[in-house]
Amino acid sequence: MHLLIAGAAGFIGSHLTDRLLADGHTVTAVDNLLTGSRANLAHLEGHPRFRFIEQDITKNFDFDEPVDGVLHLASPASPKDYLEHPLETLEVGAVGTRNLLAIAHRFNARFLLASTSECYGDPLVHPQVETYWGNVNPVGPRSCYDESKRFAEALTMAYHRVWGLRTNIARIFNTYGPRMKLDDGRVVPSFIDQALRGQPLTVFGDGSQTRSFCYVSDLVEGLCRLMLSDERYPVNLGNPSEITILEFANGVQKAVGTDCRIEFRPLPQDDPKKRRPDITKARTLLGWEPKVGLEEGLRLTIAHFREKMTAAASVRPAQNAG
Ligand code: UDP
Repeated sequence: MHLLIAGAAGFIGSHLTDRLLADGHTVTAVDNLLTGSRANLAHLEGHPRFRFIEQDITKNFDFDEPVDGVLHLASPASPKDYLEHPLETLEVGAVGTRNLLAIAHRFNARFLLASTSECYGDPLVHPQVETYWGNVNPVGPRSCYDESKRFAEALTMAYHRVWGLRTNIARIFNTYGPRMKLDDGRVVPSFIDQALRGQPLTVFGDGSQTRSFCYVSDLVEGLCRLMLSDERYPVNLGNPSEITILEFANGVQKAVGTDCRIEFRPLPQDDPKKRRPDITKARTLLGWEPKVGLEEGLRLTIAHFREKMTAAASVRPAQNAG
């Protein structure tokens, strides 16, 4: 297939690009590099079935080459990023999604929307099932992301209902792995970065809030299966193994081999207290479930960040000398 991947220079987008190329597909990658990075795709330069276009999908975007699938992974996704870019976040979920759906419609292509567990807001149902409509503050600081994704889901369903487009919606829960930005503010890169530097781990609130962390290769496998399925309603993709943020901080300390202290900071507004996906639907429909446990996933992620930090340290003296 010829696949158009928006947000391909991002963390999940770049891993998905790798996987789809490895499966033999041709990929046109699009990104405006607002939060993504060319470095995430640098290893693909010169690949015969890969092409990168720097493009903001919210601007006039006339893509006139036939495609078989459009995969929409374009959006700031870390709270720090979307709080810094609320307008871009709303636009990419609204105008960006509309532009990509129009391309899929023009070529009668499949369309996959990367949505989010944030659609459930601070959930009152636990674990979260796809039929739960959520508890989102529509005017709070996180609303730019939550409502943007909820609108994108509604638009995707409308394109399916009106035009019969073959659409899929993935509700992605916390995902981690190599290529996350060390400074994107999310808990996994933040704790690893802090632990590797021997700095205190910054736990927000009392650390009793929970999350469920999915390793990126598992998530990508889920996306690939979903993309080929006939399920039009949202499907949760995430790891159902839930831990508190304080337990996670201890896990990172152990995995890095440091005992740096924990520093408690105020809990951000509307920070969800609990999050765990019910993945019964993905298990049943896609035969999918995560395979990589937190210990192994952390080991792989820490190794990647260690390497990046060592490479950065070895470049620095040369730059200073220049
Ligand atoms: N968090 C934390 N310390 C940090 C960054 C995040 O304690 O340095 C907490 C945050 O308050 C939230 C959880 O970790 O409860 C996950 O935050 P993240 O930003 O990774 O993603 P979210 O799940 O909130 O979208």
